[in-house]
Amino acid sequence: MPRSLFFIGGIDMSNVCMRCGKERIVIEEWIELVETERRTNQIRHMKTTCPDPECQKMVDESLAKEKVKNEERKAEKIENDRVLKEERQKRIEQALLKPIKVKGRK
Ligand SMILES: [Zn+2]
Repeated sequence: MPRSLFFIGGIDMSNVCMRCGKERIVIEEWIELVETERRTNQIRHMKTTCPDPECQKMVDESLAKEKVKNEERKAEKIENDRVLKEERQKRIEQALLKPIKVKGRK
């Protein structure tokens, strides 16, 4: 997701706790330099935490759960794609085995 999407009406939404809405504390901030062919881009990274440690714990837990779910979904999609591909391949093979009917011209 582009980072600019977090900025709504000048408020950095990425810096507000998603659970309690309190402004998050920046515990770490660093600039990553990403070199492209034409120029070097600066990407600002921030590690933030909720001022409420209990809340942060719950946020961490839900994030971890979400991550597991995403990975499961990803694995499921790969499996589904593989099955679909196999089925398609089988159908093509079956179609090739059948004699081709050509409509006779009138
Ligand atoms: Zn919070």
